[in-house]
Amino acid sequence: MSLKKSQLDGYRSKLQEELAKIQRKGRLEVERFADVSDTAVQNHGLAIEASEERLSRDKEEAIRAAIHRIDDGEYGICQECSEPIAKKRLTAQPEATFCTSCQEGQEKEASWEPRFQDAQAW
Ligand SMILES: [Zn+2]
Repeated sequence: MSLKKSQLDGYRSKLQEELAKIQRKGRLEVERFADVSDTAVQNHGLAIEASEERLSRDKEEAIRAAIHRIDDGEYGICQECSEPIAKKRLTAQPEATFCTSCQEGQEKEASWEPRFQDAQAW
């Protein structure tokens, strides 16, 4: 099943491109907020920023890990069940760590949160 070198190279350059995009975006945002002098606006902006930044940091980490897996020859293998990840999935999301079914299992677990909002409506 293993991926050909040319395919791995393709995924690698896609991942590196994605990584460069995230890093460029991060720099732009730091410059934008450096211009804001109003503390309230700044704090509000930073709060939004923090969650966005966490997302892009997670993504950045996932991309770095994927590039690492290419180097280690483990790329395209699900980290949960060790089955090959579908090429279609890798093409859409080259940093994917899990196969489709393991990913779905994870998302189901993540949505198991108490619904405080419903309780507070009363
Ligand atoms: Zn799996």
